[in-house]
Amino acid sequence: MISLPEINNILANNDPAFLEGLALKSRTVTRQYFGRAVSLYAPLYLSNYCSSHCTYCGFNNKNRIARIRLNTQQMHTEMKAVADTGIENILLLTGESYKATPLTYLKEATMIAKKYFADISMEVHPMETAEYRELFLMGVDGITVYQETYNRKRYSEVHLAGKKSDYDYRRDTPQRAARSGMRHISLGILLGLSETAGDLFSLYGHLCWMEKHFPGVEYSLSFPRLRKIKGRSFAICNISDLDLIKILCLSRVLFPRVGLNLSTRETPLLRDHALELGITRISAGSNTSVGGYQLKPAGEQEPQFDIEDRRSVEEIVRYLKSRDFDPVFTDWRAIENSV
Ligand code: SF4
Repeated sequence: MISLPEINNILANNDPAFLEGLALKSRTVTRQYFGRAVSLYAPLYLSNYCSSHCTYCGFNNKNRIARIRLNTQQMHTEMKAVADTGIENILLLTGESYKATPLTYLKEATMIAKKYFADISMEVHPMETAEYRELFLMGVDGITVYQETYNRKRYSEVHLAGKKSDYDYRRDTPQRAARSGMRHISLGILLGLSETAGDLFSLYGHLCWMEKHFPGVEYSLSFPRLRKIKGRSFAICNISDLDLIKILCLSRVLFPRVGLNLSTRETPLLRDHALELGITRISAGSNTSVGGYQLKPAGEQEPQFDIEDRRSVEEIVRYLKSRDFDPVFTDWRAIENSV
């Protein structure tokens, strides 16, 4: 495993020859393990009810925003709108409210999603293994859960209330999901929230631990950058485009087989560049509001974060093909076992 001083040195090193070498290595390893395949997915927000108070998030329970939870018919409408774009991998998201979006609600959402998508992932409130098992048996393939920061002190400063303020419960969520049988798990940190090198070191350690104890799971990493809310920044450090590219390249070199995700919160320019270096999974045609695909007019939406890459799925696919990438809509399809 890489050491903390080594990570610090890499993040501080802006020598052009070093950066070129890191980028070249990252690109080579990516082509070796992933070829030119790039998976596409879309996020779909089911609810913005949240009982936690994370200072950096617009959905937190102290924020006076219109709270919405999609009903059965609305779920069909939103999911159909996404499926009509060609997307087959869906990431279903909610705020973290055990009351507004309990397991029964998530199971219903899964049943509906199965009609429209080949692969279903969830980014919802952390649960127990038995609950994840129920979701897995209904058709959920993957869980996304970011620790945000592994620095306990900083974690407690920004997670003020609700279940999310329980550091250990959140940190142990990926292993509970893995025990339930989930096929893929996505880990991540929120860049800018805390000291970067320390968080990277802990994230890599967490991933190594998961790989050792649950080798059958497919893992991916995400590195979202903290965005402002209503002009207010909660970042303690600025993460430049170059910093982000270095983090992506380093992660790729250290973990050649692990998927690297990049969402539409980054600009088209940066996303296109990162695709050449190591990104293997991107969201496309995204909307980060509840009901944002079909139900709510743009002016009435309250997104969790602003989108920078507004290209449609069709435009992204056209771009990928023009750069000789292979857009992958699904690499997984469940089949009924015949007895
Ligand atoms: S980050 Fe998640 S848990 Fe925290 S306020 Fe936002 S939606 Fe709620």
